[in-house]
Amino acid sequence: MRKKIVAGNWKMNMNLEEGLSFTRTVNQYFIEKPARKAEVILCTPYIHLNGVSEIIKKGKVGLGAQNCASEASGAYTGEVSAVMIKSTGAQYVIIGHSERRTYYHENDALLSKKTMLALNSGLKVIFCCGEVKEERETGKHFEIVKRQLKEGLFSLSAADMENIVIAYEPVWAIGTGLTATPEQAQEMHKYIRDLVNEKYGKDIAEDLTILYGGSCKPSNAAEIFSKPDVDGGLIGGASLKKEDFVAIVEAI
Ligand code: PEP
Repeated sequence: MRKKIVAGNWKMNMNLEEGLSFTRTVNQYFIEKPARKAEVILCTPYIHLNGVSEIIKKGKVGLGAQNCASEASGAYTGEVSAVMIKSTGAQYVIIGHSERRTYYHENDALLSKKTMLALNSGLKVIFCCGEVKEERETGKHFEIVKRQLKEGLFSLSAADMENIVIAYEPVWAIGTGLTATPEQAQEMHKYIRDLVNEKYGKDIAEDLTILYGGSCKPSNAAEIFSKPDVDGGLIGGASLKKEDFVAIVEAI
């Protein structure tokens, strides 16, 4: 059964107390008014994981990190491994976010390695892909997304693919206020599902959750989520405001 998901990506925002307080409010909201149609996930900075995990034990909200190390353990000062993330109680990790690809030069091979480590640690992966503005304008968007998926994901086994969520995030729409039209989102999501079908077969492709990300907000969420191959969203800026985040979840 294909799962609907709304995941908030806090990025590098909120100090410890702010993050925990936000979580208490959101968690309580979904205890009182459960999100019947979607799984709700908070993807927090590392420092929040343990505290958020304690808070959400009562309730239905899920937890993820925004990155993990590309090595399993050892002398990698400042890094946090997938096993460490798992030990906080988190169930998910975002891999391949465009900000990691752009600012930290994370390439397809590295992302493939991180994905394997995360899956082997028992985490589910929200794997991001998407083209930059110039690639869309020159008609290369399908080719780019295909490469990102082939190189980053398609060496996984079929069993591993069941623990993958794909997030299509056109880079030109992230944090810019520009949003893909529902038709553009549907077209790319369908393309992604077809690629997965070709590689892994119909059952895995049909069960795969594909999220849209890029300036998703209460005013556009319902229309984007109404498309048949859009199974929810990865939400950045709007996930930092409780009212907006909750409204986007309600839009499913
Ligand atoms: C993101 O960071 O994944 C994202 C989609 O950001 P925003 O919603 O702010 O565009």
